[in-house]
Amino acid sequence: MHDPIPTTSFPDGRKVPVLGQGTWRMGENHIKAAAEIRSLQAGIDLGMTLIDTAEMYGDGGAERIVGEAIKGRRDEVFLVSKVLPSNASRSGTIAACERSLKYLGTDRIDLYLLHWRGVYPLAETVAAFETLKAGGKIAAWGVSNFDIDDMEELESVPNGRNVAANQVLYNLARRGIEYDLLPWCRDRGVPVMAYSPLDEGRLLHNADLIHIAKAHQATPAQVALAFLKSRPGVISIPKTGSAERARENRDAMDIHFTAEELAELDELFPPPRRKMRLEVI
Ligand code: NAP
Repeated sequence: MHDPIPTTSFPDGRKVPVLGQGTWRMGENHIKAAAEIRSLQAGIDLGMTLIDTAEMYGDGGAERIVGEAIKGRRDEVFLVSKVLPSNASRSGTIAACERSLKYLGTDRIDLYLLHWRGVYPLAETVAAFETLKAGGKIAAWGVSNFDIDDMEELESVPNGRNVAANQVLYNLARRGIEYDLLPWCRDRGVPVMAYSPLDEGRLLHNADLIHIAKAHQATPAQVALAFLKSRPGVISIPKTGSAERARENRDAMDIHFTAEELAELDELFPPPRRKMRLEVI
């Protein structure tokens, strides 16, 4: 029997599990497609119903994989996709969203993000997001790779305060956002989506993490994900193309750290003591 996956809420009140599924590098190789679809479906079955994708991933290939995985079960999932900065003009954002909807095989995206800042003024992208929202094509919009100064600038443009999420690099080995960005978002009820929660797999070879995992009869991936679960307002989105590893990641939600264990993690993976520039992959 599993503990349920904890949930967190977006500003509009919609609840999502704090553990979802990433899709970067999916949809790039047709030989892997069937396993990727199975992995996403296994994840949905296990409650990891938030799926993160982007028009960039596999040039639409990842969105197509997601579309296959959610066929006949659209209402079970919370879909997140992203517009590339180079497409983020007023008309370009709308055209990009239409393409994503087609690849995903759906008529709405639950959360649509600006992948990172580009040349188009934020006001223009936000205006396009609001048009998409008014037309029912997206339910909410947010940003990705935005540090505090970007978030503050965003707040100053018309409707900029409607931002529903910020997706940034965050994992045990990269805790810089804990100093300021994470509390800033928390204060405003804006969830942070932690991308690369396993540091693209690099964390799994960390000797300290391997040691702690053994003590918990868990795997390093599970400890890394359980750590993120312990942070309020954070949604992590590990990517795996294997149904077995999707199960392993889900089982991480059964790990509960004591205050002493969290302090031990702080010693091995120290939280920031000063402002650190937002890291980006
Ligand atoms: P990640 O989730 O930290 O790590 C993925 C790697 O870990 C893959 O090689 C995967 O291999 C492996 N893995 C997953 N679960 C595992 C387990 N239980 N045991 C061992 N290995 C495991 O890295 P990520 O894909 O960079 O980040 C996650 C998601 O965040 C992305 O897929 C994407 O949706 C999003 N993202 C967003 C941005 C942005 O700019 N907004 C940037 C990067 C990522 P297998 O597939 O072989 O299991």
